[in-house]
Amino acid sequence: MIQITMPLNFLGTVYREIRQALIDMGDMFDLLEQPAEVQDKPDAKDLEIKGGAISLSGVAFGYDEERPILKGIDLDVPAGQTVAIVGSSGSGKSTIGRLLFRFYDVNGGALAIDGQDVRDVTQESLHAQIGVVPQDTVLFNDTVYYNIAYGRPDATRDEVIAAAKAAKIHDFIESLPDGYETTVGERGLKLSGGEKQRVGIARTLLKDPPILLLDEATSALDTETELEIQAELEHMGHGRTVITIAHRLSTIANADKIVVLEDGHVVEQGTHDELLSLDGRYAHLWNRQLDEEEIA
Ligand code: ADP
Ligand code: MG
Repeated sequence: MIQITMPLNFLGTVYREIRQALIDMGDMFDLLEQPAEVQDKPDAKDLEIKGGAISLSGVAFGYDEERPILKGIDLDVPAGQTVAIVGSSGSGKSTIGRLLFRFYDVNGGALAIDGQDVRDVTQESLHAQIGVVPQDTVLFNDTVYYNIAYGRPDATRDEVIAAAKAAKIHDFIESLPDGYETTVGERGLKLSGGEKQRVGIARTLLKDPPILLLDEATSALDTETELEIQAELEHMGHGRTVITIAHRLSTIANADKIVVLEDGHVVEQGTHDELLSLDGRYAHLWNRQLDEEEIA
């Protein structure tokens, strides 16, 4: 009945809206795993990027009241700089990214971009300015072209292909039965973790945002591909503000600042050399990883 009485273009609109909603959720899913709990303030303004400086002051947060995850984090990422966050698994690194995206609100303290509290700006404008490359890229059940172009839907085909090349996924795509028109995702061709990650990187390269959040962005890649893509990501980071969550410490040794997170606190921060000569937590993690790589 509904199909008969509803004008077709209305159905089309509904379909597009539903699809957009699914896509937006999918986009956040990556780092964010849960539906948004926060709402725009009635008088929320668009985030105005001046240089993309990020500042966390006294940020406290827990998913449950009983278990605080971040216990007062002070962290400044000056505009255009790259700050790496390291710390053991479960120390709250990805949580900082989720708060930056305002997927959750802080329980204490504040998080601001260019002096604007993320709670005061529209989520749409916030999300538009931050490019996320997560550990686990979620693909939409659509063509691989669509999946990359989602980063910037008005991009030209040449731009999409350039992004795919930079993410070292172009040759692979060309080898697929329908090339860029091959359907991927749960109901299409299933890609490996590394292939999905490269699609995610291409998507973000195409989006070209002023703020980049790389959350173990190359963790699913083999060492050689990781090195190649790392070079692309570093290149992309020039002139942008970057927060990078490190999987392999060697990938962040060049960061302007490295922040070590432990038990909800920043326990060390400095450059790679400074932290090594400090001979503390970071030096310990670094030496342990060197040992592991030797064993491997
Ligand atoms: P990291 O990225 O450093 O490995 P996370 O920031 O992902 O750590 O997680 C920090 C802690 O918060 C972990 O103990 C994790 O189990 C917990 N956590 C993460 N996401 C959720 C969630 N959605 N609900 C409850 N606890 C969570
Ligand atoms: Mg994480």
